[in-house]
Amino acid sequence: MNIILIGAQGSGKGTQAEKLSQSLDIRHVASGDLFRSAISQQTELGLKAKKYMDDGHLVPDDLTIAMVLDRLQAPDCANGVILDGFPRTIAQSQALDKGLANVGKRVDYALYLEVPRAELLKRLSGRYICKAHQHVYNIETNPPQIAGICDIDGSELYQRSDDRGEAIQKRLDIFFNDTIHLIDYYDGQQKLIRVNGNQSIDRVQQELVNVISERAGQC
Ligand code: AMP
Repeated sequence: MNIILIGAQGSGKGTQAEKLSQSLDIRHVASGDLFRSAISQQTELGLKAKKYMDDGHLVPDDLTIAMVLDRLQAPDCANGVILDGFPRTIAQSQALDKGLANVGKRVDYALYLEVPRAELLKRLSGRYICKAHQHVYNIETNPPQIAGICDIDGSELYQRSDDRGEAIQKRLDIFFNDTIHLIDYYDGQQKLIRVNGNQSIDRVQQELVNVISERAGQC
């Protein structure tokens, strides 16, 4: 099963993707994590991507598509994947469709987590992430037990550079002006499922699981 999770930054897609990946036993692939790992390893791709990311811009399609399609060929993706943060442009969606079709696969569902912009802003500006495993906290809604320290692995928490100031607004503008066109793309293919992301983490997860099993049952 290949699933795309669409949602603005702060919509909870990373958290939900991770949980779905465990319940469906398929790999969670997040394009932002792939870029951040390339940056920390100082690869050529990482060096190229960093300047776009720091400014809150999208990394160009050619670099992004090559990176993700390459990742999808790894054996741990053979059972299927939950894609988080990719595709973000129509060109990426088309490249993904083509890449999957070449190996006899397809996108099964595109899940859209809907959250109002004001709520996204609140979530993003309070978001902190642990250095070791990217566990996500929010100083308002989900604070760690000890300030600045991850409850799960004890590593230090940090705020992403693109979760600060102007970059947040720019990233949300990109989502609501550009990425939103993916909704029509997948609706046209009858793969789109809308879920209210403005609820507790557990409720959203339950709805996601329910809609996937309903749809899977109809096939
Ligand atoms: P994320 O962790 O998904 O918020 O992604 C962080 C940053 O990585 C984005 O603001 C972009 O600069 C870059 N990025 C991640 N995924 C993509 C994508 N599909 N297309 C272009 N840039 C991306």
